[in-house]
Amino acid sequence: MQEWQFLVPDKKHKKKFFGNLKAEVIDAKLCCHCAACAAICPVDGIVSGDQPIDFPNWVKECVDCGACIKVCPRWEYKPLKGIGNYIEAISAKSKRFKGQDGAMVTEITATALEMGLIEKAIFVSRDEEWRTKIVTIRSPVQLYDRKVTGTKYSYADVLPALKDAVIESKAVAFVGTPCMISAVRKMQKSFKKFERVKLAIGLFCTENFYHHQLSEFLAKKGVDLRLATKTDIKKGKFIVRFVDGGRVSFPVKEFEEIIPSGCKVCQDFAAVESDVSVGSVGSESGFSTVIVRSEIAKKVIDQIREKGTAEIKEPDIQAVQKLCEYKVKIHPYPSKEKEKTQ
Ligand SMILES: Cc1cc2nc3c(=O)[nH]c(=O)nc-3n(C[C@H](O)[C@H](O)[C@H](O)COP(=O)(O)OP(=O)(O)OC[C@H]3O[C@@H](n4cnc5c(N)ncnc54)[C@H](O)[C@@H]3O)c2cc1C
Repeated sequence: MQEWQFLVPDKKHKKKFFGNLKAEVIDAKLCCHCAACAAICPVDGIVSGDQPIDFPNWVKECVDCGACIKVCPRWEYKPLKGIGNYIEAISAKSKRFKGQDGAMVTEITATALEMGLIEKAIFVSRDEEWRTKIVTIRSPVQLYDRKVTGTKYSYADVLPALKDAVIESKAVAFVGTPCMISAVRKMQKSFKKFERVKLAIGLFCTENFYHHQLSEFLAKKGVDLRLATKTDIKKGKFIVRFVDGGRVSFPVKEFEEIIPSGCKVCQDFAAVESDVSVGSVGSESGFSTVIVRSEIAKKVIDQIREKGTAEIKEPDIQAVQKLCEYKVKIHPYPSKEKEKTQ
C-alpha cells in the first residue's frame, strides 16, 4: 500500500470517499477519464483502461482516505478556458523525428532528455489495433519508433504510469490531454513526490474516445484500424490513412454519440496549466504549434533553436484563440439541461 499524506477533503454525501466521487463526478457524467484517481488510490482499487472509471467493490474495499477526490479535476468543477499565459508561441517542425504534425512533442522530450533536465518521459504508444499502450522513454533512440509518436484518439493510462515514475525517479516528463495536466497540478499540491514532474507537455484537445467505441464505430463504416498508419482530426473531419496510401474521412459530427460525456463539458482546448502546449491548429501541415508557458520549457526551446534541430516559424495564434472560443461554445457548462433543473 502506498502511503500519502494530505488534508482530507470534505464529503458531500454520507458515504465513503469513492462513493462521493461516484455520485458527484462519475454518475454526474463529469468524469474526464484522466485516471488520476486510479493512480493515487492507495489500495489500487480504482480501475480505468478502456471502460468508465470504477471501483467495483468500493463499499467494502475503499479505505476512505479521500485521495481520489483530492486529485480529481472534475470535483467541484470549474472549467478552465482560453489560451492561457505564455512566454512565447512558435510553429515548428523537428528535423530528426516524425510525428503527428511537426513532431515537436517528441523533439521537446528528446532535447529535455539530452539536456539532463529529465530522466524519463511517459508516452502513449499503441498496439496493432490502435489500443493505447504506455511506454517509458529513457533515451531519444526510442523516439524513432513511429508507434510511439503520433496521436491515438483513445484514453490512455498515463497517470498511473506517471505515479510509478515519480516514485522511482527524481525528474520526469509526461505528455497528456488538458484534463491530465490539470489532474497532475492537483497531485503536485497534495502529494510531494509529484513535484518530480518537471515537464508537463499538454496537447491541444477537443475530445477523446473509448477505444472499443471508436474502433466499433469505424468498423461499421468499413474501416479496419489494423490497416491504418495514421488517424487525425482536422477541420471537422476524422481522417484515417492506410498502409496502401489510401485515406477515408468522416465528419466529426457523426461521432457525436460516442464522444464521452466528460469531454462534452471540457472547455480547456489549449492545456492552459501545462509547461508547454502543442497542437496542430495554428500551423501549416507538417508543423506543430508550440505554446511555451514556463521557464523549463523555454530552456528546452532555446536549446532546440541553438542546436537547429527544428525549423521554426510564426504561428497563427488567432486560429488557436478561435478554437479555444469554439470549445467553450460547443461545451457549455453547466450544461443547458443542468441549468434548467437548478
Ligand atoms: C485525444 C487528442 C485530441 C486532440 N485534439 C486536437 C485538436 O482538436 N486540435 C489540435 O490542434 N490538436 C489536437 N491534438 C493534438 C495533436 O493531435 C498532436 O498530438 C499535436 O499537434 C502534437 O503533434 P506532434 O507531431 O508535435 O506530436 P508527436 O511528436 O507525434 O507526439 C505525440 C505525443 O502525443 C502523445 N499521445 C498520443 N496519443 C495520446 C493520448 N491518447 N493521450 C495522451 N497522450 C497521447 C504521445 O505520447 C506523444 O508524446 C489532440 C491530441 C489528442 C491525443
